[in-house]
Amino acid sequence: MFHSLALAAAFLAPSPGMAGGIAALDIRGAQVSSNGFARTSDAVARVMQDLAGPAVDGKSLTFFVQSVADNRFRATLGKGRIGIDSPAAMAARPPKKIHSITVPIPPAASGIALPPVEGARDGARPLVVIDAGHGGHDPGAINKETGQREKDVTLNIAQAIRDELVKSGRVRVALTRSDDRFLVLQERYGIARKMGADLFISIHADSAENEEAHGATVYTLSETASDREAARLAARENKADIINGVNLGGQSGDVSSILIDLTQRESMNVSASFARLLQREASPYVPFRTAYHRFASLIVLKAPDTPSVLFETGYISNTADAAFLSSREGQRKIATGAARAIEVHFARKLAMN
Ligand code: ZN
Repeated sequence: MFHSLALAAAFLAPSPGMAGGIAALDIRGAQVSSNGFARTSDAVARVMQDLAGPAVDGKSLTFFVQSVADNRFRATLGKGRIGIDSPAAMAARPPKKIHSITVPIPPAASGIALPPVEGARDGARPLVVIDAGHGGHDPGAINKETGQREKDVTLNIAQAIRDELVKSGRVRVALTRSDDRFLVLQERYGIARKMGADLFISIHADSAENEEAHGATVYTLSETASDREAARLAARENKADIINGVNLGGQSGDVSSILIDLTQRESMNVSASFARLLQREASPYVPFRTAYHRFASLIVLKAPDTPSVLFETGYISNTADAAFLSSREGQRKIATGAARAIEVHFARKLAMN
């Protein structure tokens, strides 16, 4: 049985950046069951997707846009194969289907594959899900001089924390990804929720224009950002779901604005206390910033019932931090600190019960 997927696109102008701008549109998982709509200033494109049947997992639709000569573009327009809007018209009118193609897609698979659980064998032990930020087509932040990529650093650190937790055997642990693959933000916390995780830690490395900026920061969820920097960080990290203007996460256009459910309050309190504990236990090993705990509306922390933190382990844009984050030694230190915090966190919880 096949389900069809309709894709509508409107192009503003044949700009030179366009061929690179929308090289491929990778439509994944259940996220496309709602319409994606996005417009970026440099890719000058708008793409919507409608899914007629159930969503699929792990299948992709590739959509190529090629630069052509001006006269050929006009000729194509004349045939009515693609539509053209002025930027003003685009903003004024509701999204309209201008051109559609139908692509057969194989039957739906049964959702995201859950990763293996490692560490303590006792199923009653708490489960920690460690999420290595970014991956696949999304490299995250990049060090301009060395080319070090956030997605590699986060994977190595996540694996180092996993190894440390497995070694002590006090908790169960799983990684959202253990290779260089892309996951949308909902899949990341979705894995934690499906597995019934007791704690979710998303690992990242920060970047800033100011190359002097250094040190680690722990972020927890809040509807209102603690400061402008926190708001900027949320905007940057939430954009992981948007590739070339296409929102893979299927969220509304404004991903930086998220609503927080009342049921999240309790999780948010536990998350905040873990953030303080992480700094306390890890600071002998990892340099933290003075204002080490900040609040931001980060989609990856949005699981209502799972205490969650986003750990910006340092600045990949800073020479010393980048070297620390990329070294085995640095990764081991971060892992030691994080594992101590995790174990103290659950020991406390146990003592309170
Ligand atoms: Zn990141």
